[in-house]
Order: sequence, then C-alpha cells, then structure tokens
Amino acid sequence: MTEGDTSSATEKTQYIGGERVAVLLPLPLASAYDYGVPEGMILSRGDFVDVPLGPRVARGVVWGAGTGVDDGGVAERRLKSVIARPDFPPLPDQSLEFIAWVSRYTMASPGAVLRMVMSVPKAIDPPKPVIAYALAPDPPTFRATPARARVIAVLTGGPPRLLSELAKEAGTGTGVVKGLKDTGVIQTLSLSAPPPPAPNPDQKGPDLSPDQQAAADHLMQAVTAHSFGVHVLDGVPGSGKTEVYFEAIATALRQGKQALVLLPEIALGAQWRKRFEARFGVRSLEWHSDLTRAQRREIWRMVSRGHASVIVGARSALYLPFPDLGLIIADEEHDAAYKQEDGVIYNARDMAVVRAQIGHIPIVLASATPSLETAVNAASGRYDLLHLPERHSGAALPQIDVIDMRIEKLPATRWISGALQDALGNVFAKNEQAMLYLNRRGYAPLTLCRACGHRLQCPNCTAWLVEHRLLGKLQCHHCGFSPPVPEKCPECEVAGKFAACGPGVERLAEEISTLFPDIRYVIAASDTLQSPRAAEELVRAIEDHDVDLIIGTQIVAKGYHFPLLTLVGVVDADLGLSGGDLRAAERTYQLLYQVAGRAGRAAHPGRVMLQTYLPDHPVMTAIAAGDRDQFLSVETEARKAMGMPPFGRLAALIVSGSDEAAVSRAATALGRAAPHMDGVQVFGPAPAPIALLRGRHRRRLLLKARKDIAVQSLLKKWIARTTIPKKVRVQIDVDPYSFM
Ligand code: ADP
Ligand code: ZN
Repeated sequence: MTEGDTSSATEKTQYIGGERVAVLLPLPLASAYDYGVPEGMILSRGDFVDVPLGPRVARGVVWGAGTGVDDGGVAERRLKSVIARPDFPPLPDQSLEFIAWVSRYTMASPGAVLRMVMSVPKAIDPPKPVIAYALAPDPPTFRATPARARVIAVLTGGPPRLLSELAKEAGTGTGVVKGLKDTGVIQTLSLSAPPPPAPNPDQKGPDLSPDQQAAADHLMQAVTAHSFGVHVLDGVPGSGKTEVYFEAIATALRQGKQALVLLPEIALGAQWRKRFEARFGVRSLEWHSDLTRAQRREIWRMVSRGHASVIVGARSALYLPFPDLGLIIADEEHDAAYKQEDGVIYNARDMAVVRAQIGHIPIVLASATPSLETAVNAASGRYDLLHLPERHSGAALPQIDVIDMRIEKLPATRWISGALQDALGNVFAKNEQAMLYLNRRGYAPLTLCRACGHRLQCPNCTAWLVEHRLLGKLQCHHCGFSPPVPEKCPECEVAGKFAACGPGVERLAEEISTLFPDIRYVIAASDTLQSPRAAEELVRAIEDHDVDLIIGTQIVAKGYHFPLLTLVGVVDADLGLSGGDLRAAERTYQLLYQVAGRAGRAAHPGRVMLQTYLPDHPVMTAIAAGDRDQFLSVETEARKAMGMPPFGRLAALIVSGSDEAAVSRAATALGRAAPHMDGVQVFGPAPAPIALLRGRHRRRLLLKARKDIAVQSLLKKWIARTTIPKKVRVQIDVDPYSFM
C-alpha cells in the first residue's frame, strides 16, 4: 500500500471521450476488458458503467486506463463503447483495492471477487419511487359517502399513506381511494424510501466493570485514532465482549463513520439483535443470504450512500461498498464458518483484517477461544491483546465432568449414560433447563440392511444417506439428494430389514421420551431452524421456559445466553477428532468449550458432562482442567514442529469433473509438474476423502511451503505449465480449512 491510495475523488484520473478504459465485469473472466469512452462522457476509476458484452449489456466498474493499440490493446475498429454511466456513487477506492487484494491472495479472478461486491447489480438503478396518497391542497367539491368520509378522516392531520394502508385504516377498498383521487380530492406523491433511523450512540449502555471499561477505552481510542490495528478481545463467554465492542461502535458512530460486525452464522443473530436494539435504540441492519432481493438492493444502496451506519452480517457483508468504514468487528473469530468453501475460496476473518488495513482502521477479533493463528499473533505482539478475565455476572464457570464411556457399557441403542441421565433428572426436578449436544442432524447417520449388510449411500457423493424420520426421508448432507426410505433393500431386495446405526438428534429425542416422558424438548438443528425467524422463536421459547430440554447440533453451541440452562450434556465429545484434519483438536476444543459455555450463565451454577471414549485425549483433559492456554501452547508447539500454519503455508488443489479418467489424468499431470524447490513439499494427487461430490469425481493435491515463500506465484506457474482439459476444474484453496 502507498500513501496515494487514499487520494480523494477530486484527484482521480478522468477518462474522456475518445479514450479507452478497462472495465471489470462481475464475471470470472481472466481480466478487465477495454471499451471506448463515448464523446461527452467523463469516467473515473470506480464508476459503474453499462457496456456491451456479446449480444447483451453488462454492468461493470471502471478499473483504470485501457491499453492502447501500440501496447497490444484491441484494434480501434473492434473496440466497443461504453453505453451508459448510471447515476450512482462510484465504488470506493478502498473497495477496488480490496477486490485486487482478495483476487491476488485467493487466486480467484478479480471479476469473481467483483461479483461478490456487486451481488445486487440492480441496486445501482434508481429505486422505484413509493406512491403515497395525501389530501390535495385545494380539494374540489365532491359527492360524499361514509367510506369516502372515513378515508378523508384518516388523511386529515396524518402523514401520506400507501394505498393499501390507507384503504385498510379507513376500512374500505382501494377503489374508494382511487375514486377520490380521480375527483381530485386526494393527490399522489412519490416518495423515496426514507433512510433508516440512525443508531443512537449516546443511549446509555450498562455500567461497565473496570476490566470491561479498560478494554472499551482502549478500543474507543483505536477508533478515534483512525489507524490500522488488530485488537483481540479474549474473554470467557459472558464476560461482556459484546458490550465492550458496542462502545467501540458507539465511538465510530459519533465520528460519523460506518461500522461492520461480522458474525459467523446469522442464526446467532436473534439475541445479538435484541442487545443491539437495547444499546442503540434501533434495529440493526443485516446482510445475509436470507434477505429478499428487494431488501438486498435497499441495504446495498444505503451502505454505498453512507446511509447505513452499522451493518451486521455473515461473511459476504465484508464485500459491501462502504464509503466510510471506521471499524470492523469479527465476533467468534475462530469459527470455521468464516471460511467460504465454494466460488471464491477465502477466510472472511483473514480478509477482514486486510480490509481494515486497506481502510486504515481498527479491527476487533472477539472470541472466548481464539484461533491458534490469532493466539500466535497476539503472543508475538503483532496483534494487540485485550483480556476480560471473568464472567460479568460473577457466575462461576461450569464444572466440567468427563464421562468415560468405555466403562458405561450401554446397550447399542442407548447413548445417554447413567450419570448424565441422573443429572438431567436433577435439573428437571429443580425446574431448570438442560441441553443435549450432538452434532448430527436427522435420526441416524447410517442405515444398513441386516439381510445383506448393504449401506444406503448417496449416488452422487461419497456419503451415507442420513435418515430424517420427521421428514420421512433419507438425505445426503452434501448434495441434498433426498429419496424416501425404500421399501426393500436395493441390493438384496429383502424388505423390512433396515437398521438405523448410530444416533442423530431425532433419535436422541426418542431416547429422552423413554427416559423422561413428561419433559418438553425441542430439536434445534439447521434443518429445523432454517430462518432467522425460526431461530428467534426458539430463543423466545427457551427464554420463556416453554421447553425443558434443547437437543441441538452446533447451531446452538455458540453465542446464546439462557439464564435457566444449568446442564449441558455432550453426547459424543469425540465426534470431530477423527479424520486427520489439521485443526481437528483445536476445533473440537473450541466447540466443546463453546457448548460448555452455554451452561450456568446466570445465578445458577452450571454443569457440563462430556461423554467420551477418549478421556485421556489432550482435548478432554484440557477442557476438564479449564486449561486453555496449556492446550494452545501444546498445539502451537506441534504445529511449529511440523511447519504447519501459522508457521508454514498450505494450499490445496482440488481437481474435479464428471469424467473420472480425465480427472485422474489431470491430477497426475499436476503431480508430475509439481514445483521442486527448497522449503516446498507437494503431497498427492490422492482421491479426496469425499471422492465423489455432487456427481463430480475429486482428487486433491496439497502444497506445503515455508512461511517466507509466496505460494501464489508458485501455484500460478505450476498450473500454467500443466494442460488441464476444459471439462476438468482445478480449484485453488489457499489456507485450506477443509481437507475433504
Ligand atoms: P460475551 O459477548 O463475552 O459472551 P456478553 O457481552 O454477551 O458477553 O455479556 C453476557 C451477559 O452479561 C449479557 O446479558 C450482557 O448484557 C451482560 N453484561 C455484560 N456486561 C455487563 C455489565 N457491565 N452490566 C450489565 N450487564 C452486563
Ligand atoms: Zn449426495
């Protein structure tokens, strides 16, 4: 980055009629295309433009000067011209710089990154005005009827109304209103949608404890200083991290700056939203995949015009065109949901740090279980560490018991140990709440035929079909394929011999019904909580004590705060430890810690029971002893010894296609062309653990490099010297999180 990058709009180079501009289109093209500037048009970098692209018109962004004919640009007679420049604020320089950076780092084309920025290109068109009805200033005389009189009464002294609203309030049909308009008694006005009410930074928040206040002061200073810095907000669940970063947001607001809050999953939003409203007096504006197109257009527009001051959203919110961003928060920064695994493959937490650097602004990484990467950066002093040592309520952290399932000897169709059952009974008797955690959706993860041993498998993926009994279906959790449960075994054709193997949350609910027939439970999984509204309803039901027991997957593991919840039972604490994933132990630790953090967050002390077949595993002993830092330091040493991230670099190549032989050949060719140099190792090609996914065969290669080696240029040259047929795709995953 150079100082000149933040030059103001007035110093921008202008491109006038007859000149050439490079226009970046939101498409995965290798580069920007050149177009001529028509006479009378003046363009600058960042301007949105409509240009011809083959037979259609495409909307893109002026990326810079075009290439002249002498420098190898397209011939004059073949050069097409920009069609129009919509009247809209240009994409801010910082967004342009960010696009270029993400593209270089992830090796996705800049157009693919622009597509994430221009996720709603229609937002750039003028919004449809809203037609409102009001009394005319000099109404003519007209024939009065009771219905007409009611309409006039509603409008007298009130604000203009939408047609449907007005008719409804007057208790009549829209025809009556339209009739009044025809007589000239009522007139129509076209309104533009009003900007949303601004959050009020000065509404009083809770009185902060001295530790909280110190952290808040530090962050507020960082926001005021307008300089880049990464601030790690590390504190146990319930220590008030949210309240603390709210103060930083308030400071950004007082300075007229925008703030962005990233959450790993929007299901987390329900309680967060309430807290925001309590602190700032208005609802937060959200950005996530659950919005309607119209809402997305509206919010995108508000952000780019600077009318939206705080946005809370999932990772895609990072690509909104903020003209004046003053602060970024990445809450639950360790969460793997920040990694986007398709399209442009990137980690939103890491890219958020880059975005903050480009904007010369602070970023807060908040977590009770910082990722190893973040912990290492904090320990080395690259990141600034703010620690909140205790729960705000003073509530003790829960007592954690490890239950050795090897000595429990449960029958094959039971998963709740005697100890956990007793603890549940106690909690219900005291009229408190409990949670059973099992990260498995559906009834059973595997169904097999007892006659021949055949296992029901997805035809499109290397995956078992999961029975969802509530839906009466099987389901592939990778591609969504969901056939009914077959009558007879597709292999041996014997009927009635299917057996469910292992538990999912639905099956656990069945066990609970036998053990505790009277208690009220709810199953909370991504398929039962599909919308933010459903999540909100769940939160309400739990807060109002309409349920005694939550049986949930990882969707309920994080962020929630339920005062009556005093017991958390982790049914299978080992799930996630297998698979040879680089981060398996770290992730399991984080997840178990987060789940445990749900228990005993208020006046009642909490208890956590971990059922495991590996009671001596470092993850279990660290969790039980509450020794996070010991765990982190052991993990850190292990990664260091192996040269693994963050002490080395990884990049994966995923070769895929529907023609298995072609995929295999391409993967072998890549393997042969692999770079040979000091500090670089290439593993594979090998069939991916999910060797078939959505009908595509998959092979993987993994490049491991010393920290000081720029893997991007290495990868670029590597792929360039390999011939890959069109029908085979090679995806590059820099800093992979998934090894499937
Ligand atoms: P974290 O984000 O670290 O999990 P929260 O900010 O969610 O912690 O705080 C947990 C609970 O404690 C919330 O209900 C919050 O409103 C409350 N809380 C935190 N700090 C204070 C405070 N200083 N005064 C009153 N309530 C607080
Ligand atoms: Zn499938």
